[in-house]
Amino acid sequence: MSIVDTPERRQLRELTRAFVTQEVLPHLDDWERAGEVPRALHATAAKLGLLGVGFPESVGGSGGDLLDSIIVTEEVIRSGGSSGLIAALFTHGIALPHMVAAAGVGIGGSLVGRLGGTSTPGDDDLIQRYVRPTLAGTMIGALAITEPDGGSDVAGIRTTARREGDHYVVNGSKTYITSGHRADFVTTAVCTGFPGSGSVSLLVIDKDSPGFTVGRRLEKLGWHCSDTAELSFVDVRVPVANRIGAEDTGFLAIMQNFAAERLSLATQAYATAQRCVELTVRWCRDRETFGRPLVSRQVVRHRLAEMHTRAEAARAYVHEVAVRVAAGEPVVTEVAMAKNVAVAACDQVVDQALQLHGGFGYMRDAEVERHYRDARILGIGGGATEIMNEIIVKGMGL
Ligand SMILES: Cc1cc2nc3c(=O)[nH]c(=O)nc-3n(C[C@H](O)[C@H](O)[C@H](O)COP(=O)(O)OP(=O)(O)OC[C@H]3O[C@@H](n4cnc5c(N)ncnc54)[C@H](O)[C@@H]3O)c2cc1C
Repeated sequence: MSIVDTPERRQLRELTRAFVTQEVLPHLDDWERAGEVPRALHATAAKLGLLGVGFPESVGGSGGDLLDSIIVTEEVIRSGGSSGLIAALFTHGIALPHMVAAAGVGIGGSLVGRLGGTSTPGDDDLIQRYVRPTLAGTMIGALAITEPDGGSDVAGIRTTARREGDHYVVNGSKTYITSGHRADFVTTAVCTGFPGSGSVSLLVIDKDSPGFTVGRRLEKLGWHCSDTAELSFVDVRVPVANRIGAEDTGFLAIMQNFAAERLSLATQAYATAQRCVELTVRWCRDRETFGRPLVSRQVVRHRLAEMHTRAEAARAYVHEVAVRVAAGEPVVTEVAMAKNVAVAACDQVVDQALQLHGGFGYMRDAEVERHYRDARILGIGGGATEIMNEIIVKGMGL
């Protein structure tokens, strides 16, 4: 029995599938048109324990580890959900881990729990004020790193936080922030000294802080049910108590959480590929051209075989790397390879899936059309494919 296929994890799959079937599928098209998912969905997912998967019970989570989070992500998409839904509903997966780690609480098996450092009363306070309500589905959080001048170079951020007594005064702007419109608070990367990786700190900034403006809702190619925002900070006063961990440790915190984020994106990629294989097999059985079902033609059968192989190979490799991350191995290079392998598989599969659906594949009514659009961000967000390649060549000693 595979480590990702235990009886408990099969139950988690069933719970996730039932949630998607009952609470998501009847409404997903409406949310895609509305540009966001409702807050009530967070509360429902929290009640079922799905929102807290991967977070310790001591901070309001449901327990479990990185592999459990992967199971939930995989099953949401394979049940007919989407990577856009994952982005919108599980934004806390990138907004909260730094707070949990800074409070000295390990997130089971993921690298974020091993930041080290000493927990402070302020960090425990952040757990009470932000982590618990978010995992209970009553607050929404976002993570803001990317700026208009660039996202790949995290050390190059220009949003400044100047210390004035018990406060920081924050100035700058962020862009492409997932759930930025709905978020009650934003875990924000700021520069607290001379620009560079050694001066990045993380502050939790409340939405109603004077000087904090959420700009226009950004329109996108895909992820339509996930709201994306520009944020502006003009002399925003943020209490020092809202700093996560020690000053100037933000870069390390961000890098350490990237492992979980990249594996989540890799999971979204292979799960999207798997879902598209399923949809396309079904379509090719039903659709007839020139008097025969598409699936009877060897060229189509081979294409389906290649799509299936790519999706399954990506899944196997991502699982292997996730198991190593969960065991605490420092596999930064392998995480980068897993993301690139899964994204490449997904890109090829969604393209072929749409092609085999013919004109219908280009229609909004076709589920593969949504996956085709949603998939494109996976090779850009959380570190672009080229940034993953940089990490891989370093791992190769080049
Ligand atoms: C839908 C969506 C949601 C997002 N959500 C969030 C969020 O919640 N929080 C957040 O902080 N950010 C978010 N982002 C931002 C995302 O993380 C960045 O877009 C990404 O990191 C790339 O940064 P950039 O867009 O500034 O591209 P740039 O850094 O300007 O890079 C542009 C392109 O150049 C190439 N490139 C860059 N550097 C190199 C290099 N060294 N060598 C070779 N090629 C290179 C890559 O192809 C890259 O895609 C989101 C983006 C999108 C589109």
